[in-house]
Amino acid sequence: MRDDIDKVLIDRKTIAHRVRQIAERIVADLPDERELILVPILTGSLIFVADLIRHLPLYLRIRLLSVSSYPGSATRSRGSIVRDELTSLPGSLAGGHVLLVDDILDSGGTLKLARNLLLERGPASLHTCVLLRKPRDAALHVPADYVCFDIPDEFVVGYGLDYNDYYRNLPDIVTLRREAIDARG
Ligand code: 5GP
Ligand code: MG
Repeated sequence: MRDDIDKVLIDRKTIAHRVRQIAERIVADLPDERELILVPILTGSLIFVADLIRHLPLYLRIRLLSVSSYPGSATRSRGSIVRDELTSLPGSLAGGHVLLVDDILDSGGTLKLARNLLLERGPASLHTCVLLRKPRDAALHVPADYVCFDIPDEFVVGYGLDYNDYYRNLPDIVTLRREAIDARG
């Protein structure tokens, strides 16, 4: 699997350092009650969230949300579908401070959709956090309160991000060789 890597864009040490930094900012920005409802968008944000929450000394609860925008082996976003069966969102988030977490902000469709879904449930506050952001016009117009890394417009995998559901377990954020894309597509 490691032979499939074209280049390492962000290595594991850099990721770990930055995730800790972002966690500290999230905590510092939170009101005094120190309660947070974290809503990770599955599946891509899984590893990120697992690392992030261990640096959040808060009364924290997790509600999962499944949104799919890269069905199968597509490497370009095709719009977003919410998967209700994989959603543990309560009907109401009234009074809750909510942090929505996604792996990557690309066209922004996913985050926009998820934000609207959460806003309908009346949270006291709603902030968004993404591991990566691509330099697309649309993406820059979707509010992201916490961004770990801005990256070039390349298709990346690893640290939770997949290609056709593979490569999530790579510890670094990398691009793939053409041959790997063809073989796993
Ligand atoms: P958007 O809705 O912002 O266009 O796309 C966001 C979603 O598309 C992300 O949650 C992620 O699953 C997927 N995505 C966008 N860019 C990439 C990428 O470079 N690599 C991978 N693996 N997924 C991506
Ligand atoms: Mg995703």
